[in-house]
Amino acid sequence: DLAARGGRVLLSSPVTAIRDEGDRVAVTAGGQTLRVDRLVACGGLSSDALAAMVDDPGDVRIIPFRGEYYHLRAQLRDRVRGLVYPVPDPRYPFLGVHLTRDLTGGVHVGPNAVLALALEGYRWRDVNPRELARVLTWPGMRRLAREHWRNGLAEMAGSLSRRRFAAAVRRYLPEVQAGDLTRAPAGVRAQAVRRSGELVDDFVIRSSGRVTVVRNAPSPAATSSLAIAEHIVGQLVGAEGRP
Ligand SMILES: Cc1cc2nc3c(=O)[nH]c(=O)nc-3n(C[C@H](O)[C@H](O)[C@H](O)COP(=O)(O)OP(=O)(O)OC[C@H]3O[C@@H](n4cnc5c(N)ncnc54)[C@H](O)[C@@H]3O)c2cc1C
Repeated sequence: DLAARGGRVLLSSPVTAIRDEGDRVAVTAGGQTLRVDRLVACGGLSSDALAAMVDDPGDVRIIPFRGEYYHLRAQLRDRVRGLVYPVPDPRYPFLGVHLTRDLTGGVHVGPNAVLALALEGYRWRDVNPRELARVLTWPGMRRLAREHWRNGLAEMAGSLSRRRFAAAVRRYLPEVQAGDLTRAPAGVRAQAVRRSGELVDDFVIRSSGRVTVVRNAPSPAATSSLAIAEHIVGQLVGAEGRP
């Protein structure tokens, strides 16, 4: 759709510099510098780095929380005919482990929420000391850990032990045993945490000059992506009288 409207998609072209030149924005990506009228940066886990290219990164930092999944054994799939969710805990932006049917009739179970040891820490063995140090030295992370360590430890235990994970699922699918679950790929949430330790559960979108940076786009930002895009375009139109 984008290409049909005259757009270009540059793959494997990481943005390494953003410079507001007043009447244009210079973006260096994949070794070339492009000049554009307006820039909207949606960098997910890298949004701190992109924000720092433009401005002071401010009061929020992205903390990576891994969400791990299991597949439910085929023989139990017919027990799950829709989406089965726990009542959310309003203290957390994460919904808690739930059961979801996928398009092929399979059922996946998850995600939990454990601190990832790298921005792209999809497994326990993915460790990036520099990124981890940045997370652990953020005052908001220390406050969060002080307040929620009990829950954090419970999530880690569920991550390290399939038996515990299955026990959590048994609250709404009582017959599930550890042997009914097989590991599935994990995802990493880009979760903004304020200096005060607050887990930000709303969208954070910041504009500075001609650059807009999406600093926090928590779930359901995939489901709502078109509505969020309309909202951002509305702000750009509001700022300039044209998109
Ligand atoms: C386990 C899990 C379950 C979820 N469940 C749901 C759900 O059920 N429903 C829902 O709506 N949402 C869900 N989400 C949340 C949803 O995935 C995110 O809210 C959404 O992907 C955010 O979109 P985004 O475009 O802001 O960031 P992303 O999707 O993370 O995209 C950012 C992109 O920017 C690229 N990038 C980063 N840095 C650079 C750079 N320097 N230069 C160029 N490119 C760069 C990255 O490679 C990436 O492709 C879930 C997330 C996880 C992890």
